[in-house]
Amino acid sequence: MLLYIHIPFCDSKCSYCAFNSYVDKFHLKKSYMKALEVQLKFELERFNTKKESVESVFIGGGTPSTIPASMYRALFESIKPYLKNDIEITSEANPNSATKEWLDGMFKLGVNRISFGTQSFNKEKLKLLNRSHTPEDAQRAIIEAKEVGFKNISLDLIYATLGDTKKLLEIDLKTAFSLPINHLSAYALIIEEKTPFASKPEMSKESLKLTKWLFKEIESFGFKQYEISNFGLYKSSHNLGYWDYKDYIGLGSGAVGKLDFERFYPDTNLENYILNPLDIRVETLTEQDKITEQLFLGFRSSLGVDINILNKAQSKRADLLINEAKLELRDGRFYNPNFLLADEIVLFMYS
Ligand code: SF4
Repeated sequence: MLLYIHIPFCDSKCSYCAFNSYVDKFHLKKSYMKALEVQLKFELERFNTKKESVESVFIGGGTPSTIPASMYRALFESIKPYLKNDIEITSEANPNSATKEWLDGMFKLGVNRISFGTQSFNKEKLKLLNRSHTPEDAQRAIIEAKEVGFKNISLDLIYATLGDTKKLLEIDLKTAFSLPINHLSAYALIIEEKTPFASKPEMSKESLKLTKWLFKEIESFGFKQYEISNFGLYKSSHNLGYWDYKDYIGLGSGAVGKLDFERFYPDTNLENYILNPLDIRVETLTEQDKITEQLFLGFRSSLGVDINILNKAQSKRADLLINEAKLELRDGRFYNPNFLLADEIVLFMYS
């Protein structure tokens, strides 16, 4: 079982962002952290959580570095007995708010992996995306994370943005790999509804040629691709857990949890969540939902898909794909050698 904690505060709203995050409700931070504890207690019981059973923790958002490290202490104390030994504990952070003091405070609490929302080292591109940090902030924060003692440092880059050129991405990668990182996530810009970019669809400019080039380039630095957007010298165990369809507690306004055939959605309205963190919507999944999700997750990652979850017709289709070298079969699992084809492969399974 995994644990996800959502921090719905951000310094500015990025133009493409559809996550549940607020820039004007910082006065609610304290009461929000208290509400998280109330939900934690409830979820630990609902999930029948045993001591030392949680396999990874991920603090995401929003921007976890908008909350002072000291304000996480009580939550960490409550979580601690349930954590297995030596597990991955990640916090996302934005370069402008991840000060050395914050990084040091989180490290001392037990966080051992930091994932920086860097997106680019190009000033104009950061402005275009309405990010609140500068390229210098990002470099400083990553170097300071290393100085504080973090061994596992990841950064996010965004590509497929209007104005992206090989040259720009090349400089982004060169800068990224000059820093002490051992994991990188590269996300294509997607235009989401109800975001400032929704009225500017031209902001997203994906070119298959550029994407393929980018993936190859990242791998040339020794970072192996283990999911369509993820590359590293190691695989994040929290990421792998999601794709392996493990159960997860989702704490916070905007988080999602999953237990067997149920998904849980705490209230995305911050004030309502604080008033009643246990007002959680439940969605029931069918066996078919589960299989479809497992196909999507497995074909877009190095985990692959268990041969036994396919029905007869799908197995036949998988055989066709093996003949065309679009799938590989090893030890009872199908593997997709080209993650960019993942969606097409799943659609073919249902055609
Ligand atoms: S920092 Fe992240 S969560 Fe916050 S607005 Fe930007 S993309 Fe969204």
